[in-house]
Amino acid sequence: MAVNRFAGEKKRVVVLGGGFAGAYAARELWKKGKQEVEVVLFDRHNYLTYYPLLVEAAVGAVEPRHVVVPIRQFLPEGEFRMGEVTGVNLQSRRVDYTPAGSETTETLFYDQLIIGVGSVTRKMNVPGLAEHGFELKTMGDAIGLRDRAIQLLEQADATRDPMLKRELLTFVVVGASFTGVELVGELQAFLHELVPQYRNVSVDDIRLELFEHGRRILPALDDELSGWVSGRLADRGIGIHTGNSIQEIGENFATSESGIHVHTRTVVWTAGIAPSPLLKKIEGLPLNEKGYISCNADLSVQGLENVWAIGDVATIFDAAGKPYAATAQNAVRQGPACAINVLARLRNQATQRFDFKPVGVFCVIGNRQAAAVFLGKKFRGFPGWVMYRGAYLMKMPTFKLKARLLMDWILEFFLKSPTVQLGVHRKS
Ligand SMILES: Cc1cc2nc3c(=O)[nH]c(=O)nc-3n(C[C@H](O)[C@H](O)[C@H](O)COP(=O)(O)OP(=O)(O)OC[C@H]3O[C@@H](n4cnc5c(N)ncnc54)[C@H](O)[C@@H]3O)c2cc1C
Repeated sequence: MAVNRFAGEKKRVVVLGGGFAGAYAARELWKKGKQEVEVVLFDRHNYLTYYPLLVEAAVGAVEPRHVVVPIRQFLPEGEFRMGEVTGVNLQSRRVDYTPAGSETTETLFYDQLIIGVGSVTRKMNVPGLAEHGFELKTMGDAIGLRDRAIQLLEQADATRDPMLKRELLTFVVVGASFTGVELVGELQAFLHELVPQYRNVSVDDIRLELFEHGRRILPALDDELSGWVSGRLADRGIGIHTGNSIQEIGENFATSESGIHVHTRTVVWTAGIAPSPLLKKIEGLPLNEKGYISCNADLSVQGLENVWAIGDVATIFDAAGKPYAATAQNAVRQGPACAINVLARLRNQATQRFDFKPVGVFCVIGNRQAAAVFLGKKFRGFPGWVMYRGAYLMKMPTFKLKARLLMDWILEFFLKSPTVQLGVHRKS
């Protein structure tokens, strides 16, 4: 029998992960149930990363600190613990964690547990990927990528060897879903904008290559919009290689399945996601064949009455039997819906099935161009870009964050990006 090992009448709800799913769940629990529950939110960072704008942070269109939401401001009166969650014992209802900066393991018991620890980049078994590949999953990755691009421009400006110059300024992106496509388009626009500041570099020295295992880029968009994006990128000289992925990466090369050998110092891997490695450590958690948590329609975990899962870690089916995609848009709705169901469970009321239809998708490709589908209507080019920026500005929580983001965008519109190399990226 599970034991509630803490004093007080309030039930304790522990939320693992302060991302789109977890932070919104914790906030809703606090808003709607603060008389009945004590909410404790865990995350290894003390901010929520606003992923849809991470590519813009990587090319300096926005200040990186303006695309994160500080958890202590988002949840001013809730309890937050910054640390690494290292394990969960479902039998004894216990969470183990290492507080930030500490080496000791602490524990906390719960009555209800919400798991929202998100996903990681799916690392394929590609030789050289771990040593030489880059990813775009954290704020550190975004800052590091921009810094690297600037250093490579500096190096290219200094060399008289045309082959080396080309190698330094060739960027390979693997995976043509939203992140990969947005990165390749924005990165090219960013590099082209900086080139006039380098006397010995021309835009013709810059090369971007996008590799995609599937038959076309952007599988989440229809053929027409995907084709439009593909056409715009190709017009700008970006190489698009579909039905082809990278099978080996070295310090200064990448080789594709079909034998294309690219001389490059930068391969960014954006090909897919995998569930958080924490899940495998939790004994008794029902995982499907891909390693995600199997959930009921009300977001509770199958077979576990006091455990819930939301966001990227959870496989939840809609009324038509289709799994909800791993998107911020879904996660941000699942958080509050889960909070309401947790409260309903504690009140012995019926829980509700999660039901949501995405309102739109956006893919920004640099040069103030984007493809967008909003409320069933398609937009492309500059109107799509305006829709994209408008939608994300509206979605950014708090007035202060909206104001900062808007100021960044206004400044970016009128001022050139500074070529400051901070030296914060990995050396190889
Ligand atoms: C570059 C990029 C661009 C994207 N663009 C879009 C977009 O335009 N639109 C869209 O809808 N979706 C987008 N997505 C997907 C979207 O960001 C995710 O689907 C969403 O973040 C999932 O929310 P989540 O809460 O499940 O996970 P996350 O938001 O990743 O949050 C998980 C949290 O758990 C924490 N955590 C993980 N493990 C531990 C641990 N062991 N201990 C402590 N804390 C832990 C992490 O620090 C993180 O804060 C993008 C993703 C990326 C990477």
